[in-house]
Amino acid sequence: MKLLLLAPPGAGKGTQGERLAARYGAAHIAAGDLLRAEARAESRLGRQIASYQVRGDLVPDQIVLDVLTPAVVAAAAGGGYILDGFPRTLPQATAAAELAVRLGVTLDAVIHLYAPDSVLTRRLLGRAGQAGRADDTADVIRHRLQVFAETTGPLVPFYQERGILIAVDADQPPESVTAGIQDQLTRLL
Ligand code: ADP
Repeated sequence: MKLLLLAPPGAGKGTQGERLAARYGAAHIAAGDLLRAEARAESRLGRQIASYQVRGDLVPDQIVLDVLTPAVVAAAAGGGYILDGFPRTLPQATAAAELAVRLGVTLDAVIHLYAPDSVLTRRLLGRAGQAGRADDTADVIRHRLQVFAETTGPLVPFYQERGILIAVDADQPPESVTAGIQDQLTRLL
């Protein structure tokens, strides 16, 4: 199975990504996690990545592709992947599509999770501290939601036009979101 989770901060990409990966025996590839792991390394690249993440700005496309591609290639040769937080820009989406062609694989579906900004903000502030993320402050959360709306939002019509987009209301308990995803996936595939 090859799926993509397209959702704003706080919508539950991580939770749903893990569940989908377990259900389909696919790799859960979380862009933010891989970038944070790289940022923890005391390298020049790590410090560069951290400087974008702490402000809630997107990490430049080429860096993201360099970090993510090996994981995607490995998963494509195995049980497939649930991409969580990648692609997040139109150039990344184009590069991901080119990579899929090169690897001879096709994306089965793109899952768009949506919820009002007020709900997303409340959730992110609620987990702040507990998750220990430097970008879970009120100002940075506002900025991340704005970046999503402006830069990642245009990927919704991009995948809709390809007929593989499903949209699920994320303002529900996690189990209901999972059920909604399963339901729509069954209908699409
Ligand atoms: P959230 O969706 O809650 O913001 P993530 O862990 O997915 O959490 O992303 C955290 C940060 O990691 C982003 O604000 C950005 O700096 C960086 N990041 C993650 N995915 C990408 C991506 N595909 N392109 C560029 N930057 C990314």
